[in-house]
Amino acid sequence: MKAFQYATAHSTDSARELVAGHGAYLAGGNDLLGLLKDYLVPGPDILVNIKSLPGLNKIERDDKNWTIGALVTVAELENDAELAKVFPGLHDAAVEIASPQIRNVATVGGNLAQHSRCWYFRHRDTLCLKKGGDLCYARDGENRYHSLFTGNTCISPVVSSLGTTFAALDATAVVLRDGKETRLSMADLYHRAWENPLAHNSLEPGDLILRVEIPTARNRSAYLQVSDKHTFDWALVSCAAAANVVGGKLSQPRVALGSVSPVPHQVEAANDFLNGKTLDDDTASQAADLILKGAQPLAHNAYKVPLAHTLIRRTLLKLKGEA
Ligand SMILES: Cc1cc2nc3c(=O)[nH]c(=O)nc-3n(C[C@H](O)[C@H](O)[C@H](O)COP(=O)(O)OP(=O)(O)OC[C@H]3O[C@@H](n4cnc5c(N)ncnc54)[C@H](O)[C@@H]3O)c2cc1C
Repeated sequence: MKAFQYATAHSTDSARELVAGHGAYLAGGNDLLGLLKDYLVPGPDILVNIKSLPGLNKIERDDKNWTIGALVTVAELENDAELAKVFPGLHDAAVEIASPQIRNVATVGGNLAQHSRCWYFRHRDTLCLKKGGDLCYARDGENRYHSLFTGNTCISPVVSSLGTTFAALDATAVVLRDGKETRLSMADLYHRAWENPLAHNSLEPGDLILRVEIPTARNRSAYLQVSDKHTFDWALVSCAAAANVVGGKLSQPRVALGSVSPVPHQVEAANDFLNGKTLDDDTASQAADLILKGAQPLAHNAYKVPLAHTLIRRTLLKLKGEA
């Protein structure tokens, strides 16, 4: 393994200075250390431990927003009783992640910035498109875990359950970029992966996720995922939905799918269709049709289309309290 320095940053400015384009931020380490040990990313000159950065490990709330610091762990999301009441979808997404041991150390920032799980990307001897090679081996190979939608040749999907849920909750990631706070919607946070096979997200070198802000405008949220294994596994497909539900009628509805696209998959036409509707099975099914319109299944992942359809329908009915 390439030798590297290790430093603990005590301020966000020093963290950025230490990383300086040639280093990597180390949070819980679940993803980063595996990538380094398997030689999947160019070895950084310095690992900058960010776990001591002040103020980033808090969950704060006011009337309009909840603010989740980037160093809040997935277990802290899972165990916050008030959060489970206000954002049940986020609570349910957190509970499904990996295992209790991983949730205890995995952070919100690290979850959002985790790299592709594509098994060709994760194979150290395969120089795939995502690692600067010429070919997406999954396209004509083993693609059962891959995307139904993409804007480029790489078909590796985003797998962050929190990213998918934050998208449905219309949350904003606040990122320290060039010394200034930059606000990114979840669509912004991942859009570069839509168009550029080398990208896992839109973060620039040195960008530091500080926190995620979630508006409280929607009083209901729900999340469901289906995985091969009941626990300790990523989703084959995940679905998050949020809306303000009054008298059974939806306003400001948002639905997002994970593990089917390099970005959390959202379709404005489906959100518009659901707006003002009283949910029933037929409405939920029509919304699912709109969300999955244009899906381009490959040889081994066509099962994701009916799976996603069912998940969307069930997640929407759960939003209403019926599933
Ligand atoms: C068996 C298993 C199952 C899993 N299942 C799921 C699942 O279902 N859903 C899901 O979402 N995840 C799942 N995970 C992934 C896990 O949740 C992530 O690996 C973890 O959340 C990463 O967080 P971390 O703090 O350990 O990140 P690290 O490994 O420390 O960092 C990951 C990446 O993010 C960067 N980074 C970290 N913090 C910041 C920051 N504040 N700003 C900018 N960049 C930053 C690092 O430099 C690195 O590139 C699973 C993992 C395992 C092992």
